[in-house]
Amino acid sequence: MIPYEEQLINEKIFRDPIHNYIKVDHQLILDLINAKEMQRLRHIKQLGTSNFTFHGSEHSRFTHSLGVYEIARKICKIFSRHCSQNSVNGGWDDSKRLLTLVAALLHDIGHGAYSHTFENIFHTNHEQFTIDIITSEQTEVFQILHNFAADFPEKVAQVIQKTYKDQQVVQIISSQIDADRMDYLLRDAYYTGTKYGTFDLTRILRTICPVKDGIAFKLSGMHAVEDYIISRYQMYMQVYFHPTSRAMEVILKHLLKLAYDLYQKDPEYFKQTSPRLLPFFKEEYKLEDYLHLNDDVLNTYFAEWKQAKHPILSDLAKRFLDRKPLKSCSYTDKSKAIIDEMKKLVSAVGFDANYYTALSSSYDLPYDFYHPKTKHTQIEIMLTDGQLKEL
Ligand code: ZN
Repeated sequence: MIPYEEQLINEKIFRDPIHNYIKVDHQLILDLINAKEMQRLRHIKQLGTSNFTFHGSEHSRFTHSLGVYEIARKICKIFSRHCSQNSVNGGWDDSKRLLTLVAALLHDIGHGAYSHTFENIFHTNHEQFTIDIITSEQTEVFQILHNFAADFPEKVAQVIQKTYKDQQVVQIISSQIDADRMDYLLRDAYYTGTKYGTFDLTRILRTICPVKDGIAFKLSGMHAVEDYIISRYQMYMQVYFHPTSRAMEVILKHLLKLAYDLYQKDPEYFKQTSPRLLPFFKEEYKLEDYLHLNDDVLNTYFAEWKQAKHPILSDLAKRFLDRKPLKSCSYTDKSKAIIDEMKKLVSAVGFDANYYTALSSSYDLPYDFYHPKTKHTQIEIMLTDGQLKEL
């Protein structure tokens, strides 16, 4: 394990609306922040199409990544101060700190342009790209990690893939209450202007403790943890599953799907208007092709497609950029029959039902609210006698 050394003489700080100061005191962290693969995240929105509903939510994956790093840094600091290595339930060994911080900073580095929707159409996988960016010799991130220690890229990749042997490190980055979720809930609540996502981070951080196989929370923090669970649920129902954002996602999905279909018939048009998408239309993309894309590049292509001769391509591009969402209505198993009826109506007034209707389920989203007693790691509360009990 690598000791926490090479500290910067002058600590660097990044001003942040959620954590006020994000503190960087190690050269490796600063070098990774400045790597081009990391800077690229400035051009990828954290919340995809949510800004069409909550106009303030223009924040990027870059700012979220710094926030996750900062929460992980605070957790490590608390562990190293208050949880000695020899405690009965398994304390904290501070030589794991740098690995934890690097994994926190890089956990989302493989996210791409309009992540979830893009993946759906072109069958890319941001989790695999995260690992590729960390372990491929061609990236700046790999070079920085490898120059620091030859086995570091592999270790960081293992933490992010949750296969690393030390579950304390893994669970700080990825568990039911981890640095990732705590940052995105607070950050998304702040930027959307909603209050649902707020919870008492300071209190949670005071009660988090390392245990033998991961992390737990002291009994005195139980109410703060419960409040976090409720906030998380409300953010999913009110923000992440919002019907207008989902409707804009449907337009984006259909726009990309149509472009993919049209490319097979008229490649020349797309060579001229959207060259960086060609490897994805051909499904022969490499890591460097993926790294060339971001939300801004795609939006520029959509602006070109607004002038397309193909009426649906042009209309969907306009609807996406000028925010003209489709209307949504909910249905149950009983009222399912109306779906066919509605498709007929849409066709009857001159719209192609393939591109102007869709079924969309909130449960297709990659993240979810907390379900107790599932296969995932659960929230453990440490009772006064040291026993662990699920929340
Ligand atoms: Zn994240």
